[in-house]
Amino acid sequence: MSTAATDWRARAADLRPDGRALIDGRRVAAADGQTFDKHSPIDNRRLGSVVRGQAADVDAAVRSARAAFDDGRWAGRPPAARKKVLQRFADKILAAKEELALLETLDMGKPIQYSLSVDVPATARCIAWYAEAIDKVYDEIAPTGRNALALITREPVGVVGAIVPWNYPMIMAAWKLGPALAAGNSVVLKPSEKSPYTALRLAELALEAGLPPGVFNVVPGFGHEAGEALALHMEVDAIGFTGSTRTGRRMLEYASRSNLKRVYNELGGKSAFVVFDDFADVERAAQTVAGSMFFNQGESCNAPSRVLVHESIADRFIEIVAAEAPKYRPADPLDPATVMGALVDATQLTTVMGYIDAGLSEGAHCVTGGRQARAETGGFYVEPTVFDGVDNRMKIAREEIFGPVMGVIRFRTEAEAIAIANDSPYGLQASVWSDNVNRAHRVARALRAGTVHVNQYDEDDITVPFGGYKQSGNGRDKSLHAFDKYTELKTTWLRIDAA
Ligand code: NAD
Repeated sequence: MSTAATDWRARAADLRPDGRALIDGRRVAAADGQTFDKHSPIDNRRLGSVVRGQAADVDAAVRSARAAFDDGRWAGRPPAARKKVLQRFADKILAAKEELALLETLDMGKPIQYSLSVDVPATARCIAWYAEAIDKVYDEIAPTGRNALALITREPVGVVGAIVPWNYPMIMAAWKLGPALAAGNSVVLKPSEKSPYTALRLAELALEAGLPPGVFNVVPGFGHEAGEALALHMEVDAIGFTGSTRTGRRMLEYASRSNLKRVYNELGGKSAFVVFDDFADVERAAQTVAGSMFFNQGESCNAPSRVLVHESIADRFIEIVAAEAPKYRPADPLDPATVMGALVDATQLTTVMGYIDAGLSEGAHCVTGGRQARAETGGFYVEPTVFDGVDNRMKIAREEIFGPVMGVIRFRTEAEAIAIANDSPYGLQASVWSDNVNRAHRVARALRAGTVHVNQYDEDDITVPFGGYKQSGNGRDKSLHAFDKYTELKTTWLRIDAA
């Protein structure tokens, strides 16, 4: 495997990614021929042109998906047969590991070492896991009387529209594709305009693996064009959306304006990381929050961006975090030693710098970072930034920044910590750090979040559900629970006559 930065740069220079849509098993231009230029956030170099999908392209993709669903070319196959195809798909993802990792890094700026070690393997594992699961889930028979039989069965919902963001482009797509395809649905995927390339390659690999044409289509384009057309389409039965809370609201509007399609929203977060003074290993807690916060340039929905620390240990905690933060200084994402890459684009850079200014003007104290970095590259980089003296009413504590910026809030009592942690429109994830087992359980129960970590923040697995309370969304990705989103429950009553 090539590891040197020079190799990756040479391969990047040779890359000519194909930005055409994939509809009905074929790579196609937009019906009206429109494209947009895609640049890399690493150095603002132009990567290529990408189809700017419009309603007509979405309509072609949905019709193809509908035809594929209705004739049973995929849904009609036995689960064990679907499993085989999806297992091959997962194998092909792993075989294309370096190509996919390079595309992901060039497209959205994350370090190549993580595209290789996290994004590609997690994508393959997700597809393989749902492949393995689908011939092991059983339906039900209700405990009714002797003269009747009530079958409770799951059927695919039909055509699924998947609309995903740019921060983990492949993994977010896989979280929709895995359960939706395994259950027998057809899918139209709209990747983010900021990271379209890996989705298009995934669809090609699925075809090579034997997924019938029409079952998995990809229409790149902008949210207000291709995204809106997909979410409004009358032949789309469910939307699996991951993105901002602002766009998630629109998904619900689109459904109400069209066919009341099922909408599953996986949205933003402002996760609380609560450290009590009875947790002995302050160093580990501080190192963990830095690692989790600055991973993926802070562009993670579950980033622990609100750090609540008991006042008696806060100075020491901040000292350690401030010493850790510079270790995540951004560098060339194509260098395998790099741990923090580029923000996704100039807009995101402006947004993040705007929040840093807001923190300063509202009176928070910037302990480390706070500046743009590597501007000479033409790319979009920000230093890992830590604010002390944050009040939960400040803008940097209330709004999702989606950049490498954490704010430390000091608290005195357990009740105060719980109240601050829960005082957020979001409820995606939280964590509690305490060596007192009663307190750990008590606080974990009190935190209003879809996932709560105790004394760690890194555990993650496809076997567990992921999703949020409150304005962080509804429904769950991952685990067997994700099948709930992409299946309908059917009751079938049969009469049994007496002999
Ligand atoms: P976004 O909402 O701007 O875009 C997400 C997707 O929706 C993109 O494909 C975009 O083109 C599309 N879109 C945008 N406007 C649209 C519209 N009017 N109609 C239809 N589609 C539209 O979000 P983003 O900036 O790409 O992603 C970052 C957000 O995603 C953050 O809020 C983050 O927390 C969230 N996120 C959540 C999870 C989760 O599992 N809860 C995971 C990753 C990211």
